[in-house]
Amino acid sequence: MRKTFFIDGHCDTLSKALDENKSIYKNDLQFSIYNSNKIGGGIQIMACFVDTKFLKNKNGGFNRCNNILQKFYDYQLENKCNILIKNKNDLLKSLNSNNTNIILSIENGSAISENINNVKYFYDKGVRVMSITWNDDNELGCGAHTLYDKGLTKLGEDYVEKLNDLGIIIDVSHLSEKSFWDTISISKNPVVATHSNVYNLCNHPRNLKDEQIKAISKSGGIIGICYYSEFLNSTKKGSVKDIVEHIKYIRNLVGINYIGLGSDFDGMSVEKTATGVDNINGINNIINELKLQDFSDGEINKIMWNNWSNLLKKCLK
Ligand SMILES: [Zn+2]
Repeated sequence: MRKTFFIDGHCDTLSKALDENKSIYKNDLQFSIYNSNKIGGGIQIMACFVDTKFLKNKNGGFNRCNNILQKFYDYQLENKCNILIKNKNDLLKSLNSNNTNIILSIENGSAISENINNVKYFYDKGVRVMSITWNDDNELGCGAHTLYDKGLTKLGEDYVEKLNDLGIIIDVSHLSEKSFWDTISISKNPVVATHSNVYNLCNHPRNLKDEQIKAISKSGGIIGICYYSEFLNSTKKGSVKDIVEHIKYIRNLVGINYIGLGSDFDGMSVEKTATGVDNINGINNIINELKLQDFSDGEINKIMWNNWSNLLKKCLK
């Protein structure tokens, strides 16, 4: 019997480790492969986060994303034990492993620097999940903090189709409402929100309204519950109990099959992370709270890894 196995939809450890010149294997960050292996292993979707500040120069997003990807490749050259999951076969091997294996994602479609052919470039580099915007508007569409929501641009619509064609999973976290609905109307494949919570429990533009949660579930997608306090409650310090409240809300609204983890580790400070899940070791506190609140073992497994696993089986070629 393994200890804790998890699949987590989003962390920013790669970019943080690059900027702070730290290892992704062993470090003092919220996520490390070493600590993740210690709790039982799993699958971490690791984002290449392209911050808006890198977009000032031509190809700035593309270059930044490549630098972050290189951080992962440099690591993997020396550590072949961690699988970079690119297809269904890799996924099945990973599900039977006690190790931590990785899916690469991109947070902010500005990584393509306005060149639609770069979607295929990143696919060939192993990226299997891509978002469209960060909080700001970009060449693809409007982000969650937009001032005037115009939805997706023409390039953004082409981008969504391209992701569908290649089988790259679309991440709707950080989109504005109109961009979200534009994406839903175009995408033929399941869409996921890798790290977003429930708007009705915490009114934040990064969270999802009920109709959006329903649309994601209808597409066959997943909502990854995020541990960031500002998305959990209005008091600015969330707890594991809040995380479970958001899980319960989604379960009541659309059922248990559409909920997963989406920590956002290393995309937030420890101070702003919900108490009890300061780092990857906190996963067991979520499990304990779910047990306390009468979630069955089957439901807990679904939240911890099985829902993400089913989605990935459906989407990876
Ligand atoms: Zn984010």
